[in-house]
Amino acid sequence: MLPLPALEQAQKDFVNYQGAGMSIIEMSHRGKHYDAVHQAALAAVREVLSVPEDYDVLLLQGGATMQFAMIPMNFIKAGTTAEYVHTGEWAKKAIGDGKKVGATRITWSGESEGFKRMPSPDEIKAGSDAAYVHLCGNETIGGIEYQDFPQLGDVPVVVDMSSHIGSRDIPWDRIDMVYAGAQKNMGPAGLGVVIAKKSFIASANADLPAYLSYQRHAAADSLYNTPPVFAIYMMKLTLDWVRENGGIDGMKALAAARSQAVYAAIDNSGGWYNCPVDRASRSKMNVVWRLPSEDLEKKFIAEATAAGFNGLKGHRSVGGCRASMYNAMPVEGAEKLAQFMADFQRANA
Ligand SMILES: *Cc1c(COP(=O)(O)O)cnc(C)c1O
Repeated sequence: MLPLPALEQAQKDFVNYQGAGMSIIEMSHRGKHYDAVHQAALAAVREVLSVPEDYDVLLLQGGATMQFAMIPMNFIKAGTTAEYVHTGEWAKKAIGDGKKVGATRITWSGESEGFKRMPSPDEIKAGSDAAYVHLCGNETIGGIEYQDFPQLGDVPVVVDMSSHIGSRDIPWDRIDMVYAGAQKNMGPAGLGVVIAKKSFIASANADLPAYLSYQRHAAADSLYNTPPVFAIYMMKLTLDWVRENGGIDGMKALAAARSQAVYAAIDNSGGWYNCPVDRASRSKMNVVWRLPSEDLEKKFIAEATAAGFNGLKGHRSVGGCRASMYNAMPVEGAEKLAQFMADFQRANA
């Protein structure tokens, strides 16, 4: 979901952007109108996410998936190894691309436990040859989220925050790079946001094809080539809405209220609904649960869809049910879902 005010503003501006006589998607990305949008978008990311001065904000194409490849290309050097924490489907994809590029090691894996939890910070250890440690902050499919991030000193920590960026504080003293596909919590598809310490970017391999080089993008203020202008403009409007709704503190409160409503429906069901993840790792963005049988799950999803609850089917790789509740979703939607769950249980248990 995107905030309705952002969609309405975009609709109003779409054909004739601020009296310019053309749409934002028709203009030169080097003209004054787009430049103002670009700078405002970069500034909004900095302000909303409290990005420190010594970090660069990059706006790139290719979503989060492009970063799975760019990170190892930029940061694995001869004699170093990239460390990955394996916590589920998205971590696995990052690992797969890392392996194709250079030396990698799995630092910690939740596979044998069925990916039901995130490691605690002290379970994550990096070798002396580590190029970086990569974590997936919130496993969108598995429904697990770090409550706390490890402090690894000199080893750079890189976090895929695609599905929870903008919903919580980012401990910049522990994290050297954050990246996210914008489309879950910050805007439409087509944009990847990378926020990385300048010194980390300065340490990257420089001899790369232009688009794949963080240094190239940082030096050009994310205007090395034509940026995804419409997605950037929409992200700016989305972040304006975040600012007007209490910033990160406001989003934290909404995420807590939404997720508590649905977890309460699960916890109050006497085990009829079952959340397969450890309590301490429960995601505030993606709540997953099972019903007593697959037939009941099918029935639940069919009736929920008919009642106007969309997208509750769990990812095809894991089954079950999942409610993805990003920033723009009203708390009321989660409360209605919780009520629907209680009613469905009463009718079917
Ligand atoms: C959705 C998602 C991705 C993939 O994002 P794309 O922008 O589609 O490449 C990667 N990581 C996580 C955690 C995600 O939720």
